[in-house]
Amino acid sequence: MSKNGQAYFCEICRQKIVVTEEGFGVLVCCGQEMKLVGVKGMMATWTTAYTKPKDGVPFVCNICKQKIKVIVETTGILECCGQRMQCEEITK
Ligand SMILES: [Zn+2]
Ligand SMILES: [Zn+2]
Repeated sequence: MSKNGQAYFCEICRQKIVVTEEGFGVLVCCGQEMKLVGVKGMMATWTTAYTKPKDGVPFVCNICKQKIKVIVETTGILECCGQRMQCEEITK
């Protein structure tokens, strides 16, 4: 389960996101589940690099309404609930 404010990363392409609105879907990148950041251990070194809360690119899942922000953007394809997440443009 995702929790608001929790960060996830992709082990393959190193894409990193933060959950801004929790959904029931599982976040997938590069075809595999994204890993939760923040636990102590082997990831501790670079997870602490998340010091500047700059605005990421918002994405949303149309199915479970999970919202995330991409903090480190890569070419990896983000999926949730089995489909690509939609880039949520800030349009008014
Ligand atoms: Zn979803
Ligand atoms: Zn990836």
